[in-house]
Amino acid sequence: MSFLIKNAFVIDGTGKPGRTGNVLIEGDRIKDTGPHLQATPGSEVIDGEGLTLCPGFIDAHSHSDISILAAPEAYGKISQGVTTEIAGNCGLSAFPVNRNNREHLQELYRNYGVEITWSSFREYGAEIDRRNPAVNILALCGHNTLRAAGAGYEQKELSGQQQTTIQELLNDSLRQGAAGLSSGLLYVPGKFSDTGELCRMLEILAGFKRPYATHLRSEGNRLIEAIEEAVSACSASGQRQLHISHLKTAGEKNWGKLDAALTAIAQASAGNLDVTADCYPYIESMTQLSMILPEPYDNMDDVAFQKFINAGEQNFAAVCARLAEYPPRRWQTVRLVSTNADGMNAFAGTTFEQIAAARQTRPEKICAEILRADAAGAMTAFQGMSPENVKRIAALPFTSCGTDESARPEDYSLGRSHPRGFGAFPIFFALLKDVLPLEEIIRKCTSLPASVFGLKERGRIAPGAYADLILFDPMHFNSPADFAAPHRPAQGIRSVWVNGRMGYSANNVISHRSGRFIALH
Ligand SMILES: [Zn+2]
Repeated sequence: MSFLIKNAFVIDGTGKPGRTGNVLIEGDRIKDTGPHLQATPGSEVIDGEGLTLCPGFIDAHSHSDISILAAPEAYGKISQGVTTEIAGNCGLSAFPVNRNNREHLQELYRNYGVEITWSSFREYGAEIDRRNPAVNILALCGHNTLRAAGAGYEQKELSGQQQTTIQELLNDSLRQGAAGLSSGLLYVPGKFSDTGELCRMLEILAGFKRPYATHLRSEGNRLIEAIEEAVSACSASGQRQLHISHLKTAGEKNWGKLDAALTAIAQASAGNLDVTADCYPYIESMTQLSMILPEPYDNMDDVAFQKFINAGEQNFAAVCARLAEYPPRRWQTVRLVSTNADGMNAFAGTTFEQIAAARQTRPEKICAEILRADAAGAMTAFQGMSPENVKRIAALPFTSCGTDESARPEDYSLGRSHPRGFGAFPIFFALLKDVLPLEEIIRKCTSLPASVFGLKERGRIAPGAYADLILFDPMHFNSPADFAAPHRPAQGIRSVWVNGRMGYSANNVISHRSGRFIALH
């Protein structure tokens, strides 16, 4: 199978100025580029006149770990130009799985209807390949998954033996080709770890020269301390690559901390550390509704909490009482995105204050009821970011774009996405178009994340590179997805190639699913 894409404005992903030319694809690779290429016999010629051709986007922050098995067409991703996803973020990877975490992960991902039959990175990868994903998947090994494999979800301090076990499991995953280590220090059980535990994980990672991607312990009230913890853990363990996940200043009272955060990053970068980040271009974040829970419930994982709140009316009442302490403003800024709780999906996209008004009850009661039915699955958007800071962070030379979303089908059969699941890349372009040249925006979505995550043969248009490509119209690249109708595909994309085959085109939708699971060597 070969293609000749003619007369397109070719932007190669390195940041160099684009120019009009032709690109020849043969098999899964780019065969050649240049102004005078001829079609080889049997190749399909595509007229790219008036359009831009660039490398496929690399989603630096994906949560498609299980959804790629349930919805391998990855419609929300490929339709916005993503050809490779970095999964396993925020400490949560789908491997390694053993008797300590299997049941929990199965419950956590219940809505996807996928049976977790594998244990290792390699076996997980084989399962992905068996389902023919539309996009390439590279996965980080998650600290929370590792810790649960070593010690379950409730243990606060690890024994020496447990620490050794999780180091060995990390080492095995990295040897098999995992992209690096991720942490999610806001979530159970990663939040129980201290800096010393992280250092012992990073000592293993340092030997592989792969990134440590961290969802910081705090993204708001203790943001600077959290950045300092990540930097000092890397320095103490010889780890050279630090990648900050969805960099942000969360909560209005922390918006003024961006300069201090960037100074801390600059100081670390001036030393021996290579610091990068990703971000999504929206002011609303999305995570489990259970993250709203105050003490003492914030130390329970979702599965344990659901058991607790279902064990007697007094438990339910106690949770309601704690939630009732939030000021009304809290419920005006928290929006339900998706849940399996009976009758609640009708309210997807609206705030808890609005749901409570429609149901003629209190917002904390609605919240507790949803948690009782679906603590592990209910997803919520929290409004807490400054539009100016989002734009400044997105424009930084070391930030890539990440969707922070899982691969979604076109319909809502696997729940509803944050609009970023269909629109992060076009919104990233729209946000930066007055600030940065197109070539630089494209670099931040292609060769930058490729170099961060060790993808040597992707993220560039060059002879010999994998033919992951997008033909699109940057002037009309935009996203109509919002919280009311999040699964609407991006506008302005003409065609997307993955490993040399056309995976998506705006007229003809999905044609081939030719993505692969990637193991690093
Ligand atoms: Zn995260």
